[in-house]
Amino acid sequence: MKTGLILKSAETLTTDDEMALINQYTRRQLSKDEVYVFSLILCDNDIDRDFERFTVESLFALEKLFVGKTGIFDHNMSAKNQTARIFHCEVEAVEGKTTATGDDYFRLKAKAYIPKSESNADIILSLDSGIIKEVSVGCAVKSTVCSVCGNDVNSVSCTHRKGAEYNGKLCYGEMIEPLDAYEFSFVAVPAQKNAGVVKSYTHKKEKVTMKDILSQIKKCKELSLKAKDCEYLCDYIEQLEEDAKEGREYRESMKKTLLKYMSVHENMVSVEVLKGIVDKLSTKEIRALGASYIEKEEINNEKLEPQLNCSKSSKKRNKSDNNNQFTI
Ligand SMILES: [Zn+2]
Repeated sequence: MKTGLILKSAETLTTDDEMALINQYTRRQLSKDEVYVFSLILCDNDIDRDFERFTVESLFALEKLFVGKTGIFDHNMSAKNQTARIFHCEVEAVEGKTTATGDDYFRLKAKAYIPKSESNADIILSLDSGIIKEVSVGCAVKSTVCSVCGNDVNSVSCTHRKGAEYNGKLCYGEMIEPLDAYEFSFVAVPAQKNAGVVKSYTHKKEKVTMKDILSQIKKCKELSLKAKDCEYLCDYIEQLEEDAKEGREYRESMKKTLLKYMSVHENMVSVEVLKGIVDKLSTKEIRALGASYIEKEEINNEKLEPQLNCSKSSKKRNKSDNNNQFTI
């Protein structure tokens, strides 16, 4: 989530043109008296506290994507299910201001409205008085490019950490090619600058892969994950544990089968010694050795007579079963 600012509403005087835009979204034609209009800065091209920034091209793409999107109020606030809607968006250059990288400063300014109603009175007061002054905005971008190497910062090919310097060059991510813009939400005045802002990269992609998360963990000394990502990570670990258990069981059964072959073919060696050897083999070696015994038997056209297996029916089954096992 990125944060934006709500501008002092004194400047907003709703025009007829604006009313026409607003009324595109309303069920009936609303009059100027019925709406509360305010301006907000959704994002800009400066490096933010996550060491990321939008390119100016991205701001122009977002200008189109944010129109019509709704703003929701923090669930701590009294009025639930009340929404504001963006009816106009435009990129503006701010004269005389430059970004941390020394480029001309651009920002994406939006105008939004909320119907004036009794249930919205508190919200309007909060907006007017500056109690609500920030918004969190989320959007999906195709890629976040590393300022140092030019690769996607979430890819394995980028080894840089955002916020760190490399030969005097600051590493930050440039968010390019916005794909979608989501709802925005109003944030009550944070106690400190970063309060209420959860570091997350999930909003930028449709689906975060485990590779993304692991690559972030490798790069960052500290990383906070969204609850959803934590859940994802835990599920992933649980699945790995289950797979590992199955893997161990599979390995044990392969070892047993190999031991049967070995005790037939290496009948001069005691089962205890063979067992000791098999225990030390890797799964790959067990598989290769097992396959080599099968091959040997096929060449010699031998019938397997495992010492550990006496029943006739299982003797017949044995070979093809084992063959399957080692050739999986
Ligand atoms: Zn890089």
